[in-house]
Amino acid sequence: MIAVNKKPQTLVAAIRFFDADTADSYLASIKWPDGQPCCPRCGSVNVGWIKSRRRFQCREKACRKQFSTTTGTILEGTHLTSDQWIAAVWMIVNCRMGVSSCEIARTIGCKQQSAWHLLHRVREIMRPANEGKFTGTVEADSTLVGGLLQNMPKARRARITSRHPHAGKTRVHVVRERSTGKVRATIVDGETAAELHRHVRANVEHGSHVHTDAAHAYKSLRGDYHHSFVNHARDEYVRDGVNGCESFFAFLRRGLAGTYIHASPEHLAAYIDEAVYRYNVRHESEWDRFDAAMRAMVGKRLTYKELTGGATR
Ligand SMILES: [Zn+2]
Repeated sequence: MIAVNKKPQTLVAAIRFFDADTADSYLASIKWPDGQPCCPRCGSVNVGWIKSRRRFQCREKACRKQFSTTTGTILEGTHLTSDQWIAAVWMIVNCRMGVSSCEIARTIGCKQQSAWHLLHRVREIMRPANEGKFTGTVEADSTLVGGLLQNMPKARRARITSRHPHAGKTRVHVVRERSTGKVRATIVDGETAAELHRHVRANVEHGSHVHTDAAHAYKSLRGDYHHSFVNHARDEYVRDGVNGCESFFAFLRRGLAGTYIHASPEHLAAYIDEAVYRYNVRHESEWDRFDAAMRAMVGKRLTYKELTGGATR
């Protein structure tokens, strides 16, 4: 098995680099870091390689299980060839605003459904980027995003929003760790103290310094956190504000307004996880993003049935 020593930094370089053998070697090196393939059923390392089928077979008499480098990973059971999923994963993790399943299908030449399935499996591994606690100085803020209203004629939109100011909009809450610039975001149900606190407490260590805007809802955080705030109404945007959160909101809105206009509400939470992932890795190299996604795929699996809850789309 060959180790990856040259790191391709563009999609074209990656496709040239990963022929079927290299793709298998690469996956094997992630799956079995000690270089020894082992049977997923009985754990035996007495395995052979069936070259014609690109599969391993367990040599234990009672087992004889066949398996491949994608067995037990998020890629298990994919109908895509290795060069197709390499290109697709590369696009998904490296296109700044994300890509749609249609766009992937057109580019790599597969069924839209296969691309959609892979896209959602990759999103699944992006989720852990939206977990784990921040410390130090943390900014917290929320905003409204999306909604069907953006596709409506102006007059009609104005009529509806005069009666229902937040019609069709979803409130997203974000916390941002100032030392790393990383964010965590989630959908919240309105601007109630309970909702905002839930997200702050889940993502920020007690005793941290939380900066917010003047929203009263944050006031009762004071028992557990050092709290300071700026008053947007009085234009106190200066130094200690929550401007870092604004940069994530702008990033999120650009994504929603572009590729994902048709993002369905039930996938919005997954979309936000993806945006958090993208935002947090935006300064890394293309290869590093691809490699990190591939490593996270090992041992994770999401079937089409699990994803759709058994229903066909
Ligand atoms: Zn076995």
